[in-house]
This record gives sequence, structure tokens and C-alpha cells, in this order.
Amino acid sequence: MTGSPSIRWQQNTPVSTAFDDPYYSLVNPCAEVEHTFLNGVNLTALAKSEHLVIAETGFGTGLNFLLAVDHWLRHADSTSTLTFISVEAFPLAKTDLSKAHAGVTRLPDMHKALQAQWPGPLPGIHRLSFLHNRVRLLLLFGDVLTMLKDQQFVADAWFLDGFAPAKNPKMWSDEVFTEITRLSGPSTRLASFTAAGNVRRGLQSVGFQVDRRAGYGSKRHCIEATLTSSAFNREVKIPWLRLPKPESSGRRPSIAIIGAGIAGRTLARRLKQQQFDVTTIAGPGSKAFSGSLLPRALIAPRLVRGADAYAQFWAQAYSDAICELDRLDDGYLWQGERGLLFRFREADQKNLRGLKASTAWPDEWMEFQAAEHDKHDDALFFPKSGAIDPAHLFRLLGEQINIHADIHQLRQTQDGWELIDDNKRIVCQADIVIIAAGTGSSTLLERPDGLRNGSGQLISLCPADPPKQAVLHDGYLTTADQTGRVIAGATITRANAMQKPQTSEQASTEILSRLSDYLGPVNPGLKELDLAAWAGGRCDTVDHLPMAGPVQNHKAFNEDYRNLFHGVRLATLPDPKWLSGLYAMTGLGARGFQAAFLLADHVTAMISGQPLPLGQSVTADLLPCRFQIRKLKKTRPSND
Ligand code: SAM
Repeated sequence: MTGSPSIRWQQNTPVSTAFDDPYYSLVNPCAEVEHTFLNGVNLTALAKSEHLVIAETGFGTGLNFLLAVDHWLRHADSTSTLTFISVEAFPLAKTDLSKAHAGVTRLPDMHKALQAQWPGPLPGIHRLSFLHNRVRLLLLFGDVLTMLKDQQFVADAWFLDGFAPAKNPKMWSDEVFTEITRLSGPSTRLASFTAAGNVRRGLQSVGFQVDRRAGYGSKRHCIEATLTSSAFNREVKIPWLRLPKPESSGRRPSIAIIGAGIAGRTLARRLKQQQFDVTTIAGPGSKAFSGSLLPRALIAPRLVRGADAYAQFWAQAYSDAICELDRLDDGYLWQGERGLLFRFREADQKNLRGLKASTAWPDEWMEFQAAEHDKHDDALFFPKSGAIDPAHLFRLLGEQINIHADIHQLRQTQDGWELIDDNKRIVCQADIVIIAAGTGSSTLLERPDGLRNGSGQLISLCPADPPKQAVLHDGYLTTADQTGRVIAGATITRANAMQKPQTSEQASTEILSRLSDYLGPVNPGLKELDLAAWAGGRCDTVDHLPMAGPVQNHKAFNEDYRNLFHGVRLATLPDPKWLSGLYAMTGLGARGFQAAFLLADHVTAMISGQPLPLGQSVTADLLPCRFQIRKLKKTRPSND
């Protein structure tokens, strides 16, 4: 559970009233952090690593993070990257964060960027990005043990900073130490301000060699530690979470992305930031077929109760997209007023308060609006939602199409992949191929289990009295742009992948009638509304989660995992056989602009071997092989 912390201030230092402990030294915090944490893990030496991963328990004000970045920047090569992962159960308010930062003079731009991207107390994982993504900050907002258990990264260094162990034992439990070892490599370093006996013994029992040294200022001791290689144990129990190992020869693999819609473009940008050699291929007819070039795209949450992978993914994708779009915005990306009113059908009305409580979203992300007399029903309001201009977003992401060709076949060779067009010509060769082709994806995958194609229609129109706020009800309606046009949507029909999506008057009328409460009575003539219809391809999946990850060797999976039906112990199963160098990022459905940024980072992290921005349970539920696994679990092997 996360919540807001209760703090008081002593000079410029926050002090937790719940744990009765200051966040850091009241005397000279920067010098203490440098002595205890940065020197404790020997950050100067670690900074030579190409991709450094530092993990922390207790993000607090981010002082450790800011000072670690400052130190790392002074010692790292200009092409290396840093991922900093920190768990925090009680995120500070943004105003408290800036008050604490006022006392720190180093890297003022980083403070501002951290404050600007600060998500507030929104549970889940948040991906913040600095210095063109050279520095990634993954904030795991939740209880330390729950959050660490669902992770799969390998940290080079740990900062343990969770208030005094006697005052906050949950942060220093044996279970937490076990997770720390699981998430460490053979010589991972660790540092902490505390040298309490139970902490030293706990760390020793999970394989750290712990040394006590002089503490900073009035503190007698602090500790530094190194994981002994014999304790190193990275067993991943669920076989299909053993993802392909990244190239270790030092050579950067070449990557071909098939598709230049929002999936392909976000991927190309993210992979290029990681210095990959990327070629993007779009079909010659891609403009006509692209589902991404709609007049405007509404960024609206997919609200669900509970905390399963589906709820977690869509909540994270929503906040991630809002933050990424805000980072990219040059003043022209968002169109019309921000904010979205979520009205519910009568049957769902009484549950709105419960929904707000169960998601635990703070007011800055979701407000409950009680009914005003008998004028309106209860509603939820999302202040950060809004509509963006996709064509402008594409411009901001940069021109990325390198080859125009319709890829019909992927051929695996000894050196990688050949991409072959309809004239049987080899259009491109690459070490890695990512299928991000929307409705064209199913023909490129040997077994497109779970994928569905369709066509979505929306309309743009000029109502006499456009809504002051975007509304989501039985369909959606945006506010007006500068020209007075609003967008309303959407209908979806299943369609053949290769057909050009067609608009229909029937679908336009259906959208209008569903939104008649907000537009006034529907006029069948529609002329005075200056209505235009748009239709685009939609590729989604039967479980409404996208596909992101390596593509499996279907035959080998059938052989290796045939005993899933018998409930065999997962840990006894062999490693998965992936189709080497083949990935998919598709099936984003009608929420491509929400899912694409997060998935692009996820797939890039898989390819480069960096910490994933999604937990293990969500990662497993996005893998293309999930449909085959589910089928194997339900089907008795034929020769049983
Ligand atoms: N490293 C921080 C900084 O640079 O400002 C200071 C961390 S402060 C000493 C300890 C942090 O641990 C607090 O922010 C507190 O909210 C967090 N914390 C306490 N109990 C926790 C728990 N069970 N799970 C996750 N975080 C927790």
C-alpha cells in the first residue's frame, strides 16, 4: 500500500513523524550521501560500466538519486547509460520535493526535471527520463517487499536507506534481503547508513560480505558490502520469463522495425537513443492503412478494479503516456482543453466511489465528482487527460521511415533475418527484426495466436455548442480545437487485414446517437455539423492486452511445455526456445498512443538487457507466447 507521508520540517530537512526519523543528515546531507552511499559502493569505479544499474530502498526526496547522477556524469563515458530503480511506499508531495531540493545546489536542471515529472502518490511503476533517456529512473511506488518480488533486474549497486531499522523493520526484513540477493549479480556492491547488528547478519545470511567502516559526522559506523559469487543465484522460475540474452560481443546488433505507425516510431526513437543501428520499413500504402494517423487521439484511462496484470498495465500505460507526451510537448501537441469527465452508465454509478478507492489514484490523477443536485450523476474527472494531434506527435518523434516496401516474408539465416517483399526481393537484412506492423502483423507471424484485426471509425464535427470538457460516456467527445472541431468516437468492426478501412454513414449516426446527450438531438441530415468521418485499421488481441516481447519457436514450445496440462512444476521445465532475434510489438488496439511509449521502452530494455519498466507478472502477460501457453495448460497432450 502506498500513501502520503506525514512529515515535519527541521530547517530544510523533512522528518518523518510516522517513523520519527529525518530523511537524511540534518547537518551536511550532501557530504553524508557522498561518504555513505557513493563511496560505499565505489561509484567512481562502477561509472565505467556501459549500462549501470543502481537500486535503492526508500526514494524519499531523491537526494541520493540526484547526487549519484551528478557523480556518475563526472566519471561515465558520454555514451553510457544509468538506470536508477527506487522503491517508495509514501511518495512526497511535489511541493515538499521542491522544498527539499532547495538546499541542494548541484545539477539544478535535474531537480527541475524530477519535479516536473514527479507522478505524485500514484501506486505502481513510473518511468522518468532525463538527459535524452541516458538516465532512466524507475520509481516503484508500493511496499518494498511486494514491489521487489515482482522485479527481474540485476543491480550493480544497492543503496539501503529505509529509516532506522529499529523504527522501520519492514524495510530490513530477511525476505527483503532475499529479494536483494535475487536481484543482484556476482559482485554487486551495497551501502547503507546503518551498521545495526541485525542488518549486518541478515545481509551476511543472504551472501553479502559486509564491512563496517566509519560513519559520517556523529554516526559511528556505516556499512559497505559485496555479494560473494557463490551466493549469486538468478533462477527465474517461470521459464518464459527467461528472456533472450542480449548480444555480449560488444557489437551493436542492427535492428529492422516493420511498421511506422505509433508503435514503430516510438520504438525507432527509443532504440536510437540506445545507439542501435535502426532501419524502419513502412509499406508503400501505409498512409492509407495506418491506424495511427487519426485526426486527434484522446488519451483516456482504461479503468478497472483490482490489481491483475490487465489493470496494472493499462494504469501504468496511461500515466506513462501522459508523462511522455508532456515531456515532448512543444505547446502544439495537446489540442483543446485538458481534462476528461468520465460518466458512467446507471448500473455502474453506485460503484464510482469504490472504484476511486480501489485504484488508490490521488486527486491529481482522478477526482470523484459528486452529483450536482439532480443535474448530473456522479462522475470521475481526469485532469491530465486530453486529446493530442497525432501528425504533430509524429513530427516531434522525427522522420524515421528508411525503406518503403511491403514485407511479405521473414527468412531466418545464419546471420540474422532477411526481409522479403512481394516480388521476392530481399529488401533488408538485420540481426533483429521487430514486427510492429499493426493490422499487417498477423501475416508476418508464423502463428498469430490471439491477434485480431478490425477497423475503427470516428467522426469530426463542428457542434454549435461544443463541450467545455472532454467526455467519456457511451463513446467519447473531445473539446474543440482552434477551428471549433471536436472529435467523437468510436465504433469498431472486425475486418480483413488487407482491406482498406472504409467509413460508413451508419457508424457516424451510431456515434452521434450515443453522444446525443452532449451534442443535442441528432439531426439525420448532419450537414450543418460539417461532419467528416475517418476510419483506420485496428489490431488488438483477444485478451485486450498488447503483445510485446520475443517471438517463440512454436513447435519447440509445444514439445517442451506439453506437460503443462499435468500441472508440472515450472522450475523443472527447460529454457524457452525463442526465434532468435525476432520480437513483436503489436496488438495495441484503439489505445496505441497510450501503450506505445511504455512498450517501446520495454522492448528496447529487453533487447539491450536493461531493467524492464514493467513487473514480471505484466511482462509475462504481454509475451506473444502467452496464448500458446494458455492453450497448452488446457490441452491434454495427444499421445498421453
Ligand atoms: N533516500 C532518500 C533520499 O534521498 O531522500 C531518503 C530515504 S528516507 C530515509 C526512507 C524512505 O523509505 C522514506 O521515503 C519512506 O517513505 C520509505 N519507506 C518507509 N517504509 C517503506 C516501505 N515499507 N516500503 C517502501 N518504502 C518505505
